[in-house]
Amino acid sequence: MALRPVLKFPDKRLRRVSRKIEEVDDSIRELARDMCEVMYDEPGIGLAAPQVGEDVRLVVVDTEWTAEDAERNPLILVNPELSEHEGKITWTEGCLSVPDFEADVERAERVFLRARDLDGKEVEIHAQGLQAVCFQHEVDHLDGVLFIDHISRLKRSRYVAKRKKQQKREEEDAG
Ligand code: ZN
Repeated sequence: MALRPVLKFPDKRLRRVSRKIEEVDDSIRELARDMCEVMYDEPGIGLAAPQVGEDVRLVVVDTEWTAEDAERNPLILVNPELSEHEGKITWTEGCLSVPDFEADVERAERVFLRARDLDGKEVEIHAQGLQAVCFQHEVDHLDGVLFIDHISRLKRSRYVAKRKKQQKREEEDAG
């Protein structure tokens, strides 16, 4: 089965505010499964539904997993909410939807995450470090926010210009 393609900046669908999931039905379960496949295939440590074109508040995260490690324990987060932002941490972030770019982003060092899993069970995590960064990055996606919105205007405009050139080349190559 073909994997769902990941939308790339500047696709407008990445800018939508996603809607709350009222009920976890088969389509949400299937979407979560597909998103995990994409995350492990790319590979990435997190993926939000808008990145595969679905405007629902669903996120998958696995910060423990590496390509060499067979263990896969994805966190599947329905309607995740963050609170208790504390401290500051700077991390070099990238994003599957922002090709060929990384930048330092300052975020809260600790956050409290509250969500539901696919069975409707409450998930509560006091996250710090990479996991806290990842939660903030993914929940941003649900509000149409990308990590490049957190960097300086100069750096962002350089990336936008580079990306435009890249897209033009891709179009030319496609004939
Ligand atoms: Zn991302």
